[in-house]
Amino acid sequence: MNYDACVRTVEPYVPGEQPNQPGMIKLNTNECPYPPAPSVAEAIRQMDMDKLRLYPDPEAKELTGALADYYHVKKEQVFVGVGSDDVLSMAFLTFFNSGRPILFPDITYSFYDVWANLYRIPFERPKLDENFRIVKEDYKKENGGIVIPNPNAPTGILEGVDTFEEIVKANPDSIVIIDEAYIDFGGESCLPLIEKYENVLVVQTFSKSRAMAGMRIGFAIGNEKLIRYLNDVKFSFNSYTMNQTALAAGVKSIEEDAYFKESVAKVIRTREAAKLRLRELGFTFPDSYSNFIFATHREKKASDLFEQLKTRNIYVRYFDAERICNYLRISIGTDEEMEAVFRALQEILQ
Ligand code: PMP
Repeated sequence: MNYDACVRTVEPYVPGEQPNQPGMIKLNTNECPYPPAPSVAEAIRQMDMDKLRLYPDPEAKELTGALADYYHVKKEQVFVGVGSDDVLSMAFLTFFNSGRPILFPDITYSFYDVWANLYRIPFERPKLDENFRIVKEDYKKENGGIVIPNPNAPTGILEGVDTFEEIVKANPDSIVIIDEAYIDFGGESCLPLIEKYENVLVVQTFSKSRAMAGMRIGFAIGNEKLIRYLNDVKFSFNSYTMNQTALAAGVKSIEEDAYFKESVAKVIRTREAAKLRLRELGFTFPDSYSNFIFATHREKKASDLFEQLKTRNIYVRYFDAERICNYLRISIGTDEEMEAVFRALQEILQ
């Protein structure tokens, strides 16, 4: 038997660990340390169980409607999916189909090359500069599409809307996807660009700032034509991506704006305090506009710190990859969790 030639082989993405240790401090997957709004839990409790017999709304109209109102766009400009991973994967499949190489930075979200390989999309990875900043000129050459996170992951660096406008403008013949998974933590969104340019798609998620990683909701906003194309592919793939519970909880989360803003503000306050403490401990890092800090220590190896934190039941993320193998990505937890991290680091660094 030799069926190897029939198989679509791919090297899969490796998500951060989801350990379940009692008393652990989990700062490895950029989750929100606070729960979603109480009314989200209430909406789930109130779910009509009889509805589970039925398929969910394939168009997810209530959720796309709530998002459209919130972001002042038409509901035909909104696409929702099972986390932004699902939305991004659909967008790769839909928009990166020219056969020309797509472009994304050498240091970025490590799912992009996996989707590109899965869908057999050729790609090139322009190098970030020595400060991990995007070199926008690198995105002004022939390509089959562009995807860049803003803020970038895992660096946390935010680029200005003007940088993206320049990139979008320079590429009228391809689609530029801006992955704004972390934009709510102090960045300025590129959403206004969707009204000015037809070739830009902005993707966001409920997993970070909206504290709903477990519910799996992501969305894209763009012009109506792009959203139609996305829906055509989605409906050719799986009509019912969004389950009843996710739809109900998602709508509630959007309604609870004051709670959302307060929770994000708390994460930002803790992040800014963490920057001071990490500096005192001898770390340097790019200035983060996300809910994590990407830090390197002037003496101690990141891989050692990672292991030693783990023995203390503190989980952070370490990437054994070129240019970043001496960095730790530390998600922002509660003030108490961060205190425990600083205490542990102090002990380790003694
Ligand atoms: N984009 C970036 C840059 C991310 O870091 C993540 C989180 N791993 C995602 C997208 C996907 O998040 P989710 O599928 O939970 O929305």
